[in-house]
Amino acid sequence: MTAQLSAFDDAFRTGTPVRVINYHNTPAYRAEQYDRELEQVATQFAPTTEDDLAVYIATGRWPHARPGIVVALYNGYRNNYDVFRPLLEKHGLIGWFFATSGYVGCPVAQQLAFGSEYNLRTIAGEYPDGRYAMSWDELRAMDARHVIASHTRNHAQVSLADEAAMHSEIVGSQEDFYAHLGHPVRAFAWLFGSAYGKTPVADRHIDRAGYEFQAERGREQRRTTHYQG
Ligand SMILES: [Zn+2]
Repeated sequence: MTAQLSAFDDAFRTGTPVRVINYHNTPAYRAEQYDRELEQVATQFAPTTEDDLAVYIATGRWPHARPGIVVALYNGYRNNYDVFRPLLEKHGLIGWFFATSGYVGCPVAQQLAFGSEYNLRTIAGEYPDGRYAMSWDELRAMDARHVIASHTRNHAQVSLADEAAMHSEIVGSQEDFYAHLGHPVRAFAWLFGSAYGKTPVADRHIDRAGYEFQAERGREQRRTTHYQG
Protein backbone atom coordinates (compact mmCIF):
# COMPACT_ATOMS: atom_id res chain seq x y z
CA MET A 1 0.00 0.00 0.00
CA THR A 2 2.89 2.40 0.63
CA ALA A 3 3.85 2.44 -3.03
CA GLN A 4 0.26 3.03 -4.03
CA LEU A 5 -0.10 5.91 -1.61
CA SER A 6 2.95 7.60 -3.06
CA ALA A 7 1.39 7.15 -6.49
CA PHE A 8 -1.61 9.07 -5.13
CA ASP A 9 0.73 11.93 -4.24
CA ASP A 10 2.07 11.86 -7.79
CA ALA A 11 -1.50 12.05 -9.09
CA PHE A 12 -1.97 15.29 -7.19
CA ARG A 13 1.22 16.80 -8.48
CA THR A 14 0.61 15.86 -12.10
CA GLY A 15 -3.13 16.50 -12.08
CA THR A 16 -4.02 13.01 -13.35
CA PRO A 17 -7.78 12.91 -12.83
CA VAL A 18 -8.40 9.19 -12.19
CA ARG A 19 -6.31 6.64 -10.33
CA VAL A 20 -6.95 2.92 -9.89
CA ILE A 21 -6.13 0.77 -6.86
CA ASN A 22 -6.53 -2.99 -7.02
CA TYR A 23 -7.55 -5.59 -4.46
CA HIS A 24 -8.13 -9.34 -4.73
CA ASN A 25 -8.98 -11.36 -1.59
CA THR A 26 -9.95 -9.05 1.29
CA PRO A 27 -10.02 -11.32 4.37
CA ALA A 28 -11.54 -10.20 7.65
CA TYR A 29 -8.24 -10.35 9.52
CA ARG A 30 -7.04 -7.39 7.43
CA ALA A 31 -10.16 -5.27 7.96
CA GLU A 32 -8.42 -2.66 10.15
CA GLN A 33 -5.76 -2.13 7.51
CA TYR A 34 -8.39 -1.68 4.78
CA ASP A 35 -10.27 0.74 7.01
CA ARG A 36 -7.18 2.93 7.38
CA GLU A 37 -6.37 2.73 3.66
CA LEU A 38 -9.88 3.69 2.61
CA GLU A 39 -10.02 6.51 5.14
CA GLN A 40 -6.93 8.02 3.53
CA VAL A 41 -8.27 7.40 0.00
CA ALA A 42 -11.55 9.12 0.88
CA THR A 43 -9.78 12.26 2.12
CA GLN A 44 -7.79 12.65 -1.11
CA PHE A 45 -10.04 11.34 -3.89
CA ALA A 46 -13.58 11.52 -5.21
CA PRO A 47 -15.54 8.28 -5.69
CA THR A 48 -15.79 7.55 -9.42
CA THR A 49 -18.88 6.33 -11.27
CA GLU A 50 -18.99 4.87 -14.75
CA ASP A 51 -20.74 8.02 -15.95
CA ASP A 52 -17.95 10.19 -14.48
CA LEU A 53 -15.43 8.14 -16.43
CA ALA A 54 -17.45 8.18 -19.65
CA VAL A 55 -17.81 11.97 -19.50
CA TYR A 56 -14.14 12.43 -18.80
CA ILE A 57 -13.01 10.13 -21.63
CA ALA A 58 -15.44 11.74 -24.09
CA THR A 59 -14.84 15.37 -23.18
CA GLY A 60 -11.68 15.63 -21.09
CA ARG A 61 -13.75 17.31 -18.39
CA TRP A 62 -13.49 15.95 -14.84
CA PRO A 63 -16.61 16.78 -12.81
CA HIS A 64 -15.09 16.68 -9.31
CA ALA A 65 -12.79 19.06 -7.46
CA ARG A 66 -10.61 16.16 -6.34
CA PRO A 67 -9.10 13.49 -8.60
CA GLY A 68 -11.16 10.32 -8.92
CA ILE A 69 -10.42 6.90 -7.53
CA VAL A 70 -11.46 3.56 -9.02
CA VAL A 71 -11.24 0.99 -6.23
CA ALA A 72 -11.14 -2.27 -8.19
CA LEU A 73 -11.85 -5.63 -6.56
CA TYR A 74 -10.97 -8.67 -8.65
CA ASN A 75 -12.43 -12.13 -9.09
CA GLY A 76 -15.73 -12.00 -7.18
CA TYR A 77 -14.55 -13.18 -3.78
CA ARG A 78 -17.15 -13.37 -1.04
CA ASN A 79 -14.84 -11.49 1.34
CA ASN A 80 -15.06 -8.47 -0.99
CA TYR A 81 -18.76 -8.33 -0.15
CA ASP A 82 -18.55 -9.29 3.52
CA VAL A 83 -15.44 -7.37 4.58
CA PHE A 84 -14.62 -4.67 2.04
CA ARG A 85 -18.03 -3.43 0.89
CA PRO A 86 -19.08 -2.15 4.36
CA LEU A 87 -15.78 -0.26 4.65
CA LEU A 88 -16.25 1.34 1.22
CA GLU A 89 -19.70 2.46 2.29
CA LYS A 90 -18.45 3.73 5.67
CA HIS A 91 -16.03 6.01 3.82
CA GLY A 92 -18.46 7.03 1.07
CA LEU A 93 -16.54 5.25 -1.68
CA ILE A 94 -17.65 3.25 -4.72
CA GLY A 95 -16.25 -0.23 -5.38
CA TRP A 96 -15.72 -1.59 -8.87
CA PHE A 97 -16.39 -5.32 -8.42
CA PHE A 98 -14.81 -7.19 -11.35
CA ALA A 99 -16.40 -10.61 -10.91
CA THR A 100 -15.74 -13.87 -12.74
CA SER A 101 -19.31 -14.79 -13.66
CA GLY A 102 -18.81 -18.57 -13.76
CA TYR A 103 -17.30 -18.48 -10.28
CA VAL A 104 -20.30 -16.55 -8.95
CA GLY A 105 -22.61 -19.09 -10.57
CA CYS A 106 -20.59 -22.14 -9.49
CA PRO A 107 -22.39 -24.50 -7.08
CA VAL A 108 -20.96 -24.07 -3.57
CA ALA A 109 -19.77 -27.68 -3.38
CA GLN A 110 -17.61 -27.12 -6.47
CA GLN A 111 -16.16 -23.69 -5.67
CA LEU A 112 -12.91 -24.92 -4.11
CA ALA A 113 -12.21 -27.10 -7.15
CA PHE A 114 -13.17 -24.26 -9.51
CA GLY A 115 -10.78 -21.97 -7.68
CA SER A 116 -7.85 -24.33 -7.83
CA GLU A 117 -8.45 -25.10 -11.51
CA TYR A 118 -8.68 -21.45 -12.51
CA ASN A 119 -6.17 -19.79 -10.21
CA LEU A 120 -8.65 -18.17 -7.85
CA ARG A 121 -6.92 -18.17 -4.48
CA THR A 122 -8.80 -19.47 -1.51
CA ILE A 123 -7.87 -18.76 2.11
CA ALA A 124 -7.99 -22.11 3.89
CA GLY A 125 -10.81 -22.33 6.40
CA GLU A 126 -12.10 -18.83 5.72
CA TYR A 127 -15.65 -19.97 5.03
CA PRO A 128 -16.55 -23.32 6.63
CA ASP A 129 -19.73 -23.51 4.54
CA GLY A 130 -17.57 -23.71 1.42
CA ARG A 131 -18.93 -20.63 -0.37
CA TYR A 132 -15.94 -18.51 -1.37
CA ALA A 133 -17.50 -16.61 -4.27
CA MET A 134 -20.02 -13.80 -4.06
CA SER A 135 -23.55 -14.85 -4.91
CA TRP A 136 -25.74 -13.31 -7.59
CA ASP A 137 -27.97 -12.00 -4.78
CA GLU A 138 -24.98 -10.15 -3.31
CA LEU A 139 -24.02 -8.68 -6.69
CA ARG A 140 -27.60 -7.55 -7.27
CA ALA A 141 -27.64 -5.95 -3.81
CA MET A 142 -24.58 -3.86 -4.74
CA ASP A 143 -25.63 -3.05 -8.29
CA ALA A 144 -27.19 0.36 -7.67
CA ARG A 145 -24.57 1.77 -5.30
CA HIS A 146 -21.37 0.20 -6.66
CA VAL A 147 -20.10 -0.87 -10.08
CA ILE A 148 -20.49 -4.50 -11.14
CA ALA A 149 -18.09 -5.45 -13.92
CA SER A 150 -16.89 -8.53 -15.77
CA HIS A 151 -13.64 -10.35 -15.14
CA THR A 152 -14.34 -13.11 -17.71
CA ARG A 153 -16.56 -16.17 -17.31
CA ASN A 154 -14.08 -18.77 -16.05
CA HIS A 155 -10.83 -16.92 -15.28
CA ALA A 156 -9.35 -19.27 -17.89
CA GLN A 157 -6.06 -18.78 -19.70
CA VAL A 158 -7.58 -19.38 -23.12
CA SER A 159 -5.54 -19.40 -26.31
CA LEU A 160 -5.93 -16.38 -28.54
CA ALA A 161 -6.39 -18.92 -31.35
CA ASP A 162 -9.36 -20.58 -29.65
CA GLU A 163 -12.30 -18.52 -30.90
CA ALA A 164 -14.96 -20.50 -29.05
CA ALA A 165 -13.16 -20.13 -25.72
CA MET A 166 -12.51 -16.44 -26.35
CA HIS A 167 -16.19 -15.97 -27.13
CA SER A 168 -17.22 -17.75 -23.92
CA GLU A 169 -14.83 -15.82 -21.69
CA ILE A 170 -15.62 -12.39 -23.11
CA VAL A 171 -19.12 -12.47 -24.64
CA GLY A 172 -20.43 -15.38 -22.55
CA SER A 173 -19.56 -13.54 -19.36
CA GLN A 174 -21.58 -10.53 -20.50
CA GLU A 175 -24.49 -12.89 -21.21
CA ASP A 176 -24.22 -14.16 -17.62
CA PHE A 177 -24.35 -10.64 -16.18
CA TYR A 178 -27.25 -9.71 -18.44
CA ALA A 179 -29.17 -12.78 -17.33
CA HIS A 180 -28.60 -12.22 -13.60
CA LEU A 181 -28.56 -8.41 -13.27
CA GLY A 182 -31.09 -7.61 -15.98
CA HIS A 183 -28.68 -5.37 -17.86
CA PRO A 184 -25.24 -5.61 -19.45
CA VAL A 185 -22.19 -4.48 -17.50
CA ARG A 186 -20.06 -1.67 -18.89
CA ALA A 187 -16.53 -2.59 -17.78
CA PHE A 188 -14.38 -5.62 -18.49
CA ALA A 189 -11.00 -6.85 -17.32
CA TRP A 190 -9.35 -10.02 -18.46
CA LEU A 191 -6.31 -12.02 -17.54
CA PHE A 192 -3.70 -11.17 -20.10
CA GLY A 193 -3.02 -7.54 -19.35
CA SER A 194 -3.34 -6.82 -23.05
CA ALA A 195 -4.52 -3.34 -23.90
CA TYR A 196 -7.48 -2.73 -26.17
CA GLY A 197 -6.18 -2.20 -29.71
CA LYS A 198 -3.26 -4.63 -29.42
CA THR A 199 -5.00 -7.98 -29.82
CA PRO A 200 -7.54 -7.81 -32.66
CA VAL A 201 -9.15 -11.18 -31.96
CA ALA A 202 -9.85 -10.18 -28.36
CA ASP A 203 -10.97 -6.71 -29.37
CA ARG A 204 -13.55 -8.19 -31.74
CA HIS A 205 -15.15 -10.12 -28.90
CA ILE A 206 -14.97 -7.13 -26.57
CA ASP A 207 -16.80 -5.08 -29.21
CA ARG A 208 -19.38 -7.81 -29.67
CA ALA A 209 -20.01 -7.98 -25.92
CA GLY A 210 -20.44 -4.19 -25.84
CA TYR A 211 -18.09 -3.38 -22.99
CA GLU A 212 -17.40 0.35 -22.76
CA PHE A 213 -14.37 0.26 -20.49
CA GLN A 214 -11.49 -2.15 -20.33
CA ALA A 215 -9.36 -2.13 -17.19
CA GLU A 216 -5.74 -2.69 -17.99
CA ARG A 217 -2.81 -2.41 -15.60
CA GLY A 218 -4.16 0.45 -13.57
CA ARG A 219 -5.75 2.36 -16.44
CA GLU A 220 -9.22 2.51 -17.85
CA GLN A 221 -9.84 2.64 -21.56
CA ARG A 222 -12.94 3.82 -23.32
CA ARG A 223 -14.93 1.66 -25.69
CA THR A 224 -17.75 2.99 -27.78
CA THR A 225 -19.95 0.05 -28.76
CA HIS A 226 -22.98 -1.22 -26.89
CA TYR A 227 -24.23 -4.61 -25.90
CA GLN A 228 -26.49 -6.08 -28.55
CA GLY A 229 -28.72 -8.26 -26.41
ZN1 LIG B 1 -8.23 -12.33 -11.72
